[in-house]
Amino acid sequence: MSAAAAARQILTRLHEVMASRLHAQGKLDQVVDIIAECLDSEVCSIYLLREGMLELFATHGLNAEAVHVTRMAVGEGLVGTLAENVETLNLAEAKAHPDFQYRPETGEEKFHSFAGVPIVYRERAVGALCVQHVDPRRYEDIEIEALQTTAMVLSELITNNELIDEEEARGLVPVDTGPATITGLQLVKGLASGTAVYHQPRITIDQVMAEDIEVERQRVYRAFDRMRDQIDNLADRAEFGVGGEHEEVLATYKMFAYDEGWSRRINEAIDAGLTAEAAIERVQQRTRMRMREIDDPLLQDRMHDLEDLSNRLLRIVSGQLGTAATQGLRGDAILIAKNLGPAELLEYDRRRLKGVILEEGSLTAHVVIVARAMGVPVLGRVRGLRGVVQEGDFVLLDADNGNAVARPAQQVIEAFDTRFAKSRERQAIYAELRAVEPFTRCGTRIEVMMNAGLRDDISSLALVGADGIGLFRTEFQFLVSATLPQRERQFRLYRDVLDAAGDKPVVFRTVDIGGDKALPYLRETEFEHDENPAMGWRALRVALEREGLLKAQARALLEAAAGRSLYVMFPMVSEPWEFDAAKAVFDGQLAYLRRRKKLLPEAIRYGAMLEVPALAEVLDLFLPRVSFLSIGTNDLTQFLFAADRANPKLAERYDWLSPAILRFLRRISQATVGSGVDLGVCGEMGGRRLEALALLGLGFRRLSITPVSVGPIKELVRQVDLRELEKAMQGWLATPPPDMRAAMTEWAVGHGIDLD
Ligand code: PEP
Ligand code: MG
Repeated sequence: MSAAAAARQILTRLHEVMASRLHAQGKLDQVVDIIAECLDSEVCSIYLLREGMLELFATHGLNAEAVHVTRMAVGEGLVGTLAENVETLNLAEAKAHPDFQYRPETGEEKFHSFAGVPIVYRERAVGALCVQHVDPRRYEDIEIEALQTTAMVLSELITNNELIDEEEARGLVPVDTGPATITGLQLVKGLASGTAVYHQPRITIDQVMAEDIEVERQRVYRAFDRMRDQIDNLADRAEFGVGGEHEEVLATYKMFAYDEGWSRRINEAIDAGLTAEAAIERVQQRTRMRMREIDDPLLQDRMHDLEDLSNRLLRIVSGQLGTAATQGLRGDAILIAKNLGPAELLEYDRRRLKGVILEEGSLTAHVVIVARAMGVPVLGRVRGLRGVVQEGDFVLLDADNGNAVARPAQQVIEAFDTRFAKSRERQAIYAELRAVEPFTRCGTRIEVMMNAGLRDDISSLALVGADGIGLFRTEFQFLVSATLPQRERQFRLYRDVLDAAGDKPVVFRTVDIGGDKALPYLRETEFEHDENPAMGWRALRVALEREGLLKAQARALLEAAAGRSLYVMFPMVSEPWEFDAAKAVFDGQLAYLRRRKKLLPEAIRYGAMLEVPALAEVLDLFLPRVSFLSIGTNDLTQFLFAADRANPKLAERYDWLSPAILRFLRRISQATVGSGVDLGVCGEMGGRRLEALALLGLGFRRLSITPVSVGPIKELVRQVDLRELEKAMQGWLATPPPDMRAAMTEWAVGHGIDLD
C-alpha cells in the first residue's frame, strides 16, 4: 500500500468518527484505535500539551490507567524530545536512545520499536502521535508519511476543538506567555502600545479533509499556474533589473516554483485525502522538518525562499490575498512586517495604526518618511521579529529607546504608562509653543517649516504651528492612487492645500517618483531594467522625458495658485540645464494660461532641491537662476557616502554628523551667503535635535521637517546661542573630534541644551 493510500484509509475513517456523536474523549479513543488498526500497530498513543506538560490523552495498546496520568516535560523522554525539536523519531530499539525514559504505569517495557511524529501548530509541537511494536524494527517511510499526514489532520481537529474540549484546546495553543524584549533601531521616535498585527496575516486553513480529491487537484494546478506567472513577471520588475545577485535569487525562485518534486508531493498529500491548502501546508511542514536536520546556513536561506513561495501558493489557493490593511484593522494595531513599501503603509488607516516594527528598514527609506509623516513610531532592524512576536500579542513599543516588549508584565505596563503620560505632557508643552515664534537666545528668527504630502497633513500645519510647508511631496498623491492622478485631481489637492495654508508659504516639489517610490501602474512599462533605481531614472529625469506628466502638473499648480504666491521646487537637479528645462515647461503653461486670459499666480518663485553632490560644485552658475535652494539630506548623504538609503545593512553605518557631511554642508551654506537665494534643509536630518543643532551651527536658518518634530525643534532653537554654537562648529570642523556625536552632545549638555 502507498503512503497516500494508508493515510487516505485513516482519514476516511477519521471522517466517520468526527461525524459521530461521541464525546471528545470517546472520539480520541477511537482515533488511536483506527490508526493502530490501519498501520497494523500494537500501540498508538496521542500526547497533548496541558499546562506545559505533554500528557497521554489516549492510547491503544498501553495501560488505560496511564491515560491522563503519564506526563512529561517538553524535552523529557522520547515524546518530549521529538516535541521539543519538532522532529520525527524512528527507532528500532527505543531503550537505546539516550533520551529514553521508562514510565512503569504505561506497561511499555515489552515494546521495542518506536516511531513518533510531532503534532504541529504554528510551527511548534502541541503534542505527539506515536506507534510502538514488540518487534525491534525501523518503520518504513510509508508508515512515517502516513503518521505525519495523520498528525497534521489531528492538529487541525484538535486546535479547532473537535477532538478535545474548548478549555483543553486553549491550553494547547503554544503561545509564548512570558515577556520578550526585542531591540532594534529607532526609525521614528515615539511610544505606542497595542496589539501585534501581521502585515501579511497568517493563513487560516478551515478545512483539512478533502470532500472531492479531483476538485482539490484542480485548485492546486490553477494556483501553481498563477504563482508561476507571478514569478515570471517578477523578472520584469524595476527593482530586479538585469544581471547581478538579483538574477540568482530569481533563478532560485523559479527553480523552486517549477520544481516537479514539490508539486508532486503536494499532489500526493491531496491523494491522501487532504484539501489543497492542507496539502501545501503538509509539504511545507515536512520540508521544514527535513531542513532542520541539515545544519547549513546556505540551505536555511533557500528555505526562506521556499517558505515564501509556499505561502504565496497558499494565499492564492485560499483566496486570502490581502494585507492586514484591507482586512478590518483593529483600533490599536502595532504592525509587524519584514519590510514595507511606502504605498503599502499608506494603505493603513492612520487612526488605527499605533506603531510599526520591521525586521528591516532604514532611517531615510521612504516608508519610514511616510510613517514619520503619519506620526507613527517605527522600530526597525529587529532580528527574528516574527519568531518572537506572535499575532495578537500585546506589545509596548518604545521606539525612543530602540526596543519593544511583547507580552509585558503588569509592572512594566504601568511603568510604560507613566512614561507615556509624561510624553503626552511634553506634547502639551510643544502644543503651547504652537503660537510662539522660534527665536534663538541671541535673537535670530529661525524658520521652522514642515514637510507634507497628503491631504490629511494639512491639518498639522495649524496644529504644530509651523511657518509653512517647506516641502510638499506631490508624489504621495501618485503613490496612494491606483492610477495616474489626472490634472483635475492634482489641481484639487493643490488648491485645498493652499486654501488650508492661508498666507503661509507652501513649497510644492514636482513629482519625485522612481527610486524606492515605485508606482505600481508605471512600474512594468516605464521603470524596466533600472538596476539602481535611486540613481536611475527618477524625479526630474522622468519628468523631463515624460513631458506630459510635468505639463499636467505645472498647469495644475499654476491654476491652483491663481491669485496667490506659488513656490515650485524641482527634485534631483544634477545640472543647471535640467532646472532650465523644467522651468521652461512651467513658462510654456503660464503662457498658455495667459493667452486664455486665465487668472495667474501673483508671484511664482522657482527653486531646487540640492541632493545630487554635483550641483554643489556649480553653485556659482546655478544660484543666479533660483530664488531658493533646499538641501535634501536624505539623498545627498546617500550619494556622498555611496550608501543606499533604503539598504538596511547600511542603516547604522554612516552618521549625519560625520565631518564629511558637515563640511560639505558648510561649503554650500557659505556659497549662498550674499546671493539672495534662500537656503534651507528639508531632509530628515533637520528633524532630529542634535542634527538640527549642527545645521544651525553651519549657518542654516530654515528647516523643513516632519510635523511631529516642529515642537521639539522650536524648543531647541530657543535654547541656542548661535554665536557660541558657530564658534564651536568651526572648531569641530577644523579638527574633527574622534566621535563628533559624542563631542556635540557633551557641548550641548554643557550649554544647558535639552536633547531629549
Ligand atoms: C531628501 O532627499 O532629503 C528629500 C527631502 O527628498 P526625499 O526624501 O523625498 O527623496
Ligand atoms: Mg530626495
